[in-house]
Amino acid sequence: MNNQDLLSIAREHGSPVYVYDANVIVAQYERLVSAFAKAKNLRIHYAVKALSNISILKLFKQLGAGLDTVSLQEVELGLAAGVDPKKIIFTPNGVSLEEIEKVAEKGVQINIDNLSILEQFGSKHPRTPVCIRINPHVMAGGNANISVGHIDSKFGISIHQIPHILRIVENTGMTVNGVHMHTGSDILDIGVFLYATEILFETAAKFKDLEFIDFGSGFKVPYKEGDVSTDIEDLGEQLSERFNAFCKSYGRDITMAFEPGKFLVSEAGHFLAQVNVVKQTTSTVFAGVDSGFNHLIRPMLYGSYHGIKNISNPGGKNRFYSVVGYICETDTFANNRQISEITEGDILSFSNAGAYCFSMASNYNSRYRPAEVLWYDGAAHLIRERETMKDILKGQHQLNFEELVIS
Ligand SMILES: *Cc1c(COP(=O)(O)O)cnc(C)c1O
Repeated sequence: MNNQDLLSIAREHGSPVYVYDANVIVAQYERLVSAFAKAKNLRIHYAVKALSNISILKLFKQLGAGLDTVSLQEVELGLAAGVDPKKIIFTPNGVSLEEIEKVAEKGVQINIDNLSILEQFGSKHPRTPVCIRINPHVMAGGNANISVGHIDSKFGISIHQIPHILRIVENTGMTVNGVHMHTGSDILDIGVFLYATEILFETAAKFKDLEFIDFGSGFKVPYKEGDVSTDIEDLGEQLSERFNAFCKSYGRDITMAFEPGKFLVSEAGHFLAQVNVVKQTTSTVFAGVDSGFNHLIRPMLYGSYHGIKNISNPGGKNRFYSVVGYICETDTFANNRQISEITEGDILSFSNAGAYCFSMASNYNSRYRPAEVLWYDGAAHLIRERETMKDILKGQHQLNFEELVIS
């Protein structure tokens, strides 16, 4: 998929539009599988929340992946995509017992991340095996906004509460068939991650009925030149070997599971927006596009960096721009960025737009959410239509206030 392909997609489907390259998704999936090739039983659960279009889920199903889900609705999407419920894991945080029960009824593997629900669920459904989410209190992630492993984190059951877990398991007669951790996004240091896995192995050894250990995700991908990314091949080599040794001492081969989102889809995505206006102020040149944080919130929410290219004028002279959106409050995609000279009407392409971009889009300012296109087999396939006024009004009940008297 080259610039010309992207431009023709923008022409045909309009802007703004999300475009995903299936080849990149497949390549990342295969890269992950071969990195962990030494592990006997490997299962990759794609984290649906990163990009939840049903065609993307079907692509993962075809690749043999399972799904990692965080809501009943994501579970239902996965089932609608035809994914075997046994290959879906439900890893929510702070949801009700009722929601967990509904998911368990569908035959989906549930993962419990607090003692209260563990005790309630185990008392009511001792025959349904559960996985438990452990917080090893190791912060692998570099970004404090998205880190989930530290001591005050709301995620997981503290490693210091293992005796309590064991007591609940014994008292209820329930089965723990998996242990899980997800230390946070953005693993910069493999050593830190491996240290956390040692804590998980130590925990795992305390449970007799394990079928799998889920090591979560947080595999980092580069967003800009010079970015550190997780050395997945090195991690795969070291962790597979350690996992096999664990299986030996455990007395049985169990499954090694991961649940990456970003690693699998981030780099596959391009977000295309058209420049509405080039505005020169005394100090800055603004390029204002036909989109905003309603469609791509990561820069405003996390300060995330997304590469921006002017694909209408790729060979132009580089100039400095602040790229901004049309939302009526501060809405900045990038400050002081070198981009080849921009003319009104040009199409800008934002990179790393596969993960947490469309899935976080909203209708703020009553704008339509963009279309989504999948580049597959050398052609563009529309996988979600741009919204219309019907979507904006959907479900709204209109009161007419005919009797209202203004005194
Ligand atoms: C969001 C999430 C993931 C995926 O994280 P990435 O950084 O996108 O790989 C995995 N596991 C759980 C429990 C999550 O909440």
